[in-house]
Parts: sequence; structure tokens; C-alpha cells
Amino acid sequence: MNTYPMYIGGKPVHTGRSLDIVDPALDEPFARVAAAGPEQVEAAVAAARAAFPHWAASPHASRAALLHALAGALEAHMGELMELVTRETGKPLQGLNQVGAGMELGGAIAWTRVTAGLSLEPELIQDNARARVEVHRKPLGVVASITPWNWPLMIAIWHVIPALRAGNTVVLKPSEFTPVATARFVELANAILPPGVLNMVAGGGEVGAALTAHPGVDKIVFTGSTRTGKRIMEGAAASLKRITLELGGNDAGIVLPGIDVRAAAPRLFGAAFHNNGQTCACLKRLYVHDSQYEELSAELARLASRAKVGNGLEPGVELGPLQNRGQLDIVKALAADAHAQGGRFLSGGEARTGRGYFFDPAIVTGLSNGTRLVDEEQFGPILPVIRYADVEEAIRLANDNPNGLGGSVWSSDLARAVQVARRLECGTVWINEHGAVQPDAPFGGVKQSGIGVGFGRQGLEEFTSIQTVKIMKG
Ligand code: NAD
Repeated sequence: MNTYPMYIGGKPVHTGRSLDIVDPALDEPFARVAAAGPEQVEAAVAAARAAFPHWAASPHASRAALLHALAGALEAHMGELMELVTRETGKPLQGLNQVGAGMELGGAIAWTRVTAGLSLEPELIQDNARARVEVHRKPLGVVASITPWNWPLMIAIWHVIPALRAGNTVVLKPSEFTPVATARFVELANAILPPGVLNMVAGGGEVGAALTAHPGVDKIVFTGSTRTGKRIMEGAAASLKRITLELGGNDAGIVLPGIDVRAAAPRLFGAAFHNNGQTCACLKRLYVHDSQYEELSAELARLASRAKVGNGLEPGVELGPLQNRGQLDIVKALAADAHAQGGRFLSGGEARTGRGYFFDPAIVTGLSNGTRLVDEEQFGPILPVIRYADVEEAIRLANDNPNGLGGSVWSSDLARAVQVARRLECGTVWINEHGAVQPDAPFGGVKQSGIGVGFGRQGLEEFTSIQTVKIMKG
């Protein structure tokens, strides 16, 4: 079994310890990654600090060129990285609606290229006979990136590339469940970037907590659960670190009356079930008008029953296993509670016996707000479909949740859909679509779904501080 090293100061690092990484389709380890202790955390932060002044002072064009070279390396190793992503996450190589490891790699490359091409030109506020006032953007220093297990490589790219593009150096800590493709990416990157610019330490929450508390770290960029996000915010307070938190979601979709059920159902199904529902901005609660409730629920159940569930390395598989046993247990507990609350399972709802963390995709009707499956983020292949009688009620129910990541409205009347969409309490709202993000449009949560945004110019600015320069002329 291959043991992947960490990278510190441009060098591969093995320790006496390693993490066993489990293939969730087989429920057995397939790779190891060297594990960090406090010594490696210290060394990685020191290496990033040492590399910072030179990297920060390098011209924008040369940093952009190196990041384009990195995109090229990802492209050249796409097949290998896709297989690693599938083995560690369980997501199929292609997957439902082509949302799989191929998309993870395609996204990683696209985000790298678009972000490399962004600019941070100073803004001119005033220029007259009296004074010139400019607003400059400066890198912050050392950024610690802490990533989750659902889109491990793409989210690492979302953190690392803008941090580097803006002139920061990075210590990356991937999820202890899925560090393999990230470790390989860091290895490829270290053949391109100067030593110490991108470091990686592997381990669990204790390594993340050590980075959060470390006085040599200037900013934390974190994607993961709301619970951990709150801990990070607490830990970062001691030295007033900058933070970007991309946290959990419980995204609502509202289907307005008069929808074309046959046309909408496959899109709704894909939005809720791609990656087995283990995407922050998956559709997680669906509110459907009384007039089409039965018909749309039945159509979604038909799609769920037909979906091909299996090992993601096999051709044609649409849904893989859940990524880890703990997540499967959460989904099972929510299914049991939904049954107890009178939910009707129109499809699936059972974990499969045998190897791997498989769960048959479930469409559940008959529940409303106030039940666990509706109120909590399920992060799995089980969608509650909730009946409503008037649109005001649907808007109220959609907003009745502490999360505010994404939301969607589905209708053939686009103007009406936009009116409803603008009233949803979420960071991104889609019309006749859900969850699609792009590298040039900001994405982030409101309420307890996060602080700050990623992507585009606004996302890049999160990795900078402002310096206002006022030049008196007289
Ligand atoms: P998690 O919070 O359990 O773990 C995320 C990372 O935090 C891991 O690397 C983990 O080791 C680390 N960590 C754990 N405890 C820590 C601590 N005390 N201090 C510092 N780091 C610590 O999340 P997860 O289960 O890996 O990911 C699933 C969650 O992520 C879901 O809630 C999902 O909605 C969310 N998510 C959000 C977005 C977004 O953009 N908003 C994207 C993807 C996933």
C-alpha cells in the first residue's frame, strides 16, 4: 500500500505515524498518508513564514504563471487524480449528471486557471490638486487551509489558489478521511512552486486546532461543518486571525405551481442526489405546491429507484457509497426518525447489507418543518419533499432554518421566480437549477452557513488586507 508524504519546506516528510485511508466502497484501507504531530505543525508554519516575504514580493505575473503551470500539472495527471478521488471519497468517476471525480478534476483545473487570471489592481479613490488616495491590497501572511471530505481536491484548490495568487503562503490540512488526492496535488505543486510556499500536514481535528491556535498563522480558510466552524472562530479570536468559513447548508428549493413535472424532475433529482447528497449546496429540502405534490414526488421516486448505485470505479455507476461510516449512521438515524414521524418512503431508505457504506436513495413525503429530516442537514441520499398550499407559506418554511447557504425556485414564470428568490435568506439563489457554482461568481453563506465568500474578485480579496495610501500634493 502506498504511503503518501506530507510536504514541508519543499521536501516530502514521513513520520513514524500514518493515517489509514479507507475506500468506502470496500470498507478497507487502500492508501496511507504520513501523519503530523505538533513538531510537523511547527515546522510547516515556520516554512510558510520563511517563504512568505519572497513570494509576497514576487510580481503578480510570475505568480499567475506558476499557477497556470500548476493547472497544467493537474491536467497531465487527471486520470490518476480522478481514481484517487473516487477511491477515497466513493464518488463515481463520472456519476449522476456527470457530477463525479471527472468534474472534481475539471473544476480544480478551471478554478486554478480563472483564479490565476484575476487581478488585484489598486483602486483610485481620489486624484486632484490636493491629494491622491489609492486603495491597495496586500497579502496577509500565512494562510491555514482546513478542508472537508466531500470534494477534497476541489475545495483544497478553492482555498489554496486564491491564497497563493494574492501572495500568501499556505499550510494545508486535508480531512483525515480524504487526504490522498490532496497529498498528490501538493507533491505536484512542490515541483513547480518555490519551497515553503505550499506545505501540507495531515491529521484530524487536533492538527486543525493546532493551526487555528498557532500565532504564526494569519488567516484560516475553512470548509466543513458549522459545529467545527464555531470552534475555529473561537480559536482564531486569541490572535484575531482573519477567517473565511464555508459551513453547512440545508438548502431549500421551492417549486411554484404550474411546473413541467417531467422536465423539472431529473434536474431536481440531480441537484439533490449528486455525490449522494454530500455537497454543501445540494438541494436538501424540497417544497412543492399541493397541486403537483403527488405527481412530482412520484416522479422523483421513480428516478431514485432507477439510479445505479455501486462502486464508483465501475462504468455507469451514478451514486457511490456514503464517504464514511459515521455519515452513513447519521443518514440511517434520520431515516429512522422520519419513519417514526410518519414520513412515507416512496423509494429507498435502507442501508445495503454487505461491504461498503451504501444506502438506497430515498424520497420521503408527509413531513414538514419541525422534524429532524427537514430541519437538519442530512448530507446523504434522502430527500424530504414537503407540501405547501400558498407561496408565502413556502417562503416562510424555507427561511425557517439557521442555515443560509443556497436556495432555489423552480418555475416557468421567470419574473415571478426571481421575486420569490430574492426573498430567500441565502448566499446564492438559483432559478430552475441548484448548486452550480462558477469560478468568477462569489459563493458563500449567510446566517450560520458561514462568513465571507470564495471565488471571483471578492473571493480573492478575502486573502488580502487593505492598505490605503494618501499622497498629499501640496
Ligand atoms: P468537519 O467540520 O467534521 O471537518 C472539516 C475539517 O475540519 C476536517 O479537516 C477536520 O479534521 C477539521 N477539524 C475538525 N475539528 C477541528 C477543530 N476543532 N479545529 C480545526 N479543525 C478541525 O466537516 P466534514 O464532515 O469534513 O464536512 C462536511 C460538512 O462540510 C457539511 O456540513 C457540509 O455542508 C460542509 N461543507 C460546506 C461547504 C461550503 O462551501 N459551505 C462545502 C463543502 C462542505
